[in-house]
Amino acid sequence: MSRFNVRKVAVLGAGVMGAQIAAHLVNVKVPVVLFDLPAKEGPKNGIVTKAVEGLKKLKPAPLGVPEDAALIQQANYEEHSELLRDCDLIIEAIAERMDWKLDLYTKIAPFLSPNAIVASNTSGLSITKLSEVLPESIKPNFCGIHFFNPPRYMALVELIATPTTRPEILDQLESFVTTALGKSVVRAKDTPNFVANRVGIAGILATFKEAENYGLSYDVVDDLTGKKMGRASSGTFRTADVVGLDTMSHVIKTLQDNLKDDPFFPSYATPAPLAALIAKGALGQKTGAGFYKKV
Ligand code: NAD
Repeated sequence: MSRFNVRKVAVLGAGVMGAQIAAHLVNVKVPVVLFDLPAKEGPKNGIVTKAVEGLKKLKPAPLGVPEDAALIQQANYEEHSELLRDCDLIIEAIAERMDWKLDLYTKIAPFLSPNAIVASNTSGLSITKLSEVLPESIKPNFCGIHFFNPPRYMALVELIATPTTRPEILDQLESFVTTALGKSVVRAKDTPNFVANRVGIAGILATFKEAENYGLSYDVVDDLTGKKMGRASSGTFRTADVVGLDTMSHVIKTLQDNLKDDPFFPSYATPAPLAALIAKGALGQKTGAGFYKKV
């Protein structure tokens, strides 16, 4: 296997996952170009600037030492796509929408190095469908790289190949993810929501349903489904707030769209309390309100 020399990584999306993946990379001294949509009100108020400032405030601080922040170069797709040419690995972590991801891939394709590995952090969209808009030269270098939230602490990374991914790409990425990033890798098939979210979302939906059936409050459910059930941190509803309620709804929809006739879990509809919060713009921690803090 040829060595995968990762001199610089582009992370596309400075949201919940992208910003923290960037932090993890710079903590192990891999320079990052962190991209998001251009700022509407000038660079100082931009999405990426806010994300980097937010990383400094998180506890424990994801940016280990002050120099780590300097290893994150801030960028947007309108002005800085040329920077992609120097990146050996591109990790796409924009919102969980197939159409938005495909638009972005079409836009950035001319700037990608033919030797770069390009990988999506999608929670469960089809990696094969995502690859379809990429140039033939890039398709063999494309795969899924699914980190878990919070990506600095969660050990698991799912790697997902398409039928056209060169096997060497997954070997190189697995070596980087385990050796440089200290994670464990599971190679998953390109099925809806891969492995962990296929199982996890079914459990979450069952929990929502039973909470409603028995009229249980969020904190009672979380008390039971958190540490007492062996989870390292929070229970179902607090986890939903951390994940982002819009993202959770998109991940549920992937199962709804793809497994309509699954006899085992007949309903993958977005639960009403989740839909109601999203409609109010309460998307969890990232908007400051969700199941726990009301708008
Ligand atoms: P997020 O909502 O926090 O951030 C998404 C980012 O995408 C935002 O910064 C936004 O500006 C950007 N964006 C929105 N529309 C865009 C467009 N049309 N073009 C380009 N950029 C656009 O989302 P997130 O939670 O960081 O999720 C990102 C990806 O990671 C998704 O695919 C999600 O399924 C996946 N993921 C999320 C979690 C989680 O717990 N949140 C865990 C694992 C994987």
